Amino acid sequence: MTRIVDLTMTLEEGMVTYPGHPHVEITQLARFGYEGKETRKITLGTHTGTHIDAPRHYIEGGKTVDDIPPEVLCGPARLLNFAEWPDKAISASMLAQAAHGGSVERVLLRFDGEKRLGNMDYYNWQPFLTKNAVEWLLDKGCKLVGMDTPMPDSPDHKDTMPIHKILLGAGVVLVEYMVNLKSIQAETFQLIVAPLKIKDGDGAPARCFAICND
Ligand SMILES: [Zn+2]
Repeated sequence: MTRIVDLTMTLEEGMVTYPGHPHVEITQLARFGYEGKETRKITLGTHTGTHIDAPRHYIEGGKTVDDIPPEVLCGPARLLNFAEWPDKAISASMLAQAAHGGSVERVLLRFDGEKRLGNMDYYNWQPFLTKNAVEWLLDKGCKLVGMDTPMPDSPDHKDTMPIHKILLGAGVVLVEYMVNLKSIQAETFQLIVAPLKIKDGDGAPARCFAICND
């Protein structure tokens, strides 16, 4: 049976945003009692809620959201489950063990980070990829890395973002702030990542689905 899992945060006022990034504002414009319909204005950052990072985020002259082919964003993907692992530094051997020989062209890293949504714990706690993990992914032809945490870098490196820079520098697309990865039961599934097509976008909010045949 085909089951579609929604991996996207709901956009709403008061939701988590990275310190310094714009807060979400959703303002009602037209109203049924007056204009006979509803419309709204939304204010979002390019990195608000579940979103992609295009290479341009950290790489001058790098690909932007509107340049990324849909074939990179959508296709077969693999879930690497680290939710029960105590280590926060994800190494190449941990990736290899979790992937057990399968393709890592598109991978989603499950940490159940959403349990910590609602305060700075979400940012301060998060696991991260080591340099050798990233080299392993690139060596295996990885094009997209998604995660249910804010970023692939250690919170200790938030000012320099070395892991972001290696991945984006190699043209890999990042999908951050995903949710509900625990509902993906299959190890492989079809992934749909659909970011808003923003001209010269360094990033964009994205609707993400896993199409699972369990
Ligand atoms: Zn981002």
